[in-house]
Amino acid sequence: MKPWIEEALEARTLFFDAKHRPVALPAPLAPVVDTHGHLSMLAHEGASWAEMREAAAIALARAWLAGVVWTVCIVDASDDGRDPGAFLEWLSETEAEAHAEIEAALAAGLRPAFPDEALRVSLSAGVHPYHASGIEDALPALRELLSSPRCVALGECGLDYHADVDREVQREAFELQLALARELGLPLELHVRDAVGDASYEAHAEALEIVRSADVAAQGIDLHCYTLGPEPLEGWIELGCKVAFGGALTFKRSEAIRDAAAACPAEALLTETDCPYMAPEPLRGRPSEPALTLATANLLADVRAEVLGEARRDAFGSAWANARALFDRA
Ligand SMILES: [Zn+2]
Repeated sequence: MKPWIEEALEARTLFFDAKHRPVALPAPLAPVVDTHGHLSMLAHEGASWAEMREAAAIALARAWLAGVVWTVCIVDASDDGRDPGAFLEWLSETEAEAHAEIEAALAAGLRPAFPDEALRVSLSAGVHPYHASGIEDALPALRELLSSPRCVALGECGLDYHADVDREVQREAFELQLALARELGLPLELHVRDAVGDASYEAHAEALEIVRSADVAAQGIDLHCYTLGPEPLEGWIELGCKVAFGGALTFKRSEAIRDAAAACPAEALLTETDCPYMAPEPLRGRPSEPALTLATANLLADVRAEVLGEARRDAFGSAWANARALFDRA
């Protein structure tokens, strides 16, 4: 038997913390979506494609069993996606291997949260603001990735004023990608990050202005990895954007993010991991993976139940419906 399956059967959970102690999590009250996961980064540094495939396949199988049935995999056309053919083939092989892992897990007696929901692996392709200066070179690869039937969005793209990358170059790469999304009719996954301690939220204000003038909001926008309070959220909500909450929502000192999650209209809520980064509590400190979206979704439901008196089931239901409204292009 595969070690991960044996371990899950023995511990009666799919979740292990940073010290590899088993952790029980409440069951999901609707299927959960990881709207932002870097599946090619789940293996150790310097791993081969085969090792990357095995790590991602096991992670996808574990996620599906836990009720996180759908992952939107992020690929960067100037980084892990610079050879689009190889990446797309890798992702298809990874999905096939995930199905084999699921078969083995079911045969061994593990029970999934939502047996009737299919495993789904979608793609969002873009050029991260870190790589903004390479946008021109990356365009052919980006177009090829975006033309894949698996692709449901363009991104992550945006502005990162924390990074040491020329801001004008970032704005140009961002505008170019918004124009491309408009041409192709695709929704967007935005990465927006202010400089450390910037109380004026300059990156958010400028990104919002750029999105407004590009006239792309109606196509659907996911403001990925939201880590601020309610205030900078307002303009985005007015524009009809959705807001993805990740592991940071669960951290002890994240009161402001929890305030934002309570202030967010139900029709804007999304969940994500940004794995392998920022694993949520009570699993913080270990590498993240799509299954861990469940811990964030649970906390989101707790926060809204506590502050708004909303039924826990509602936050789960909203996040599920919103992901489908945004990424189900069929
Ligand atoms: Zn990311």
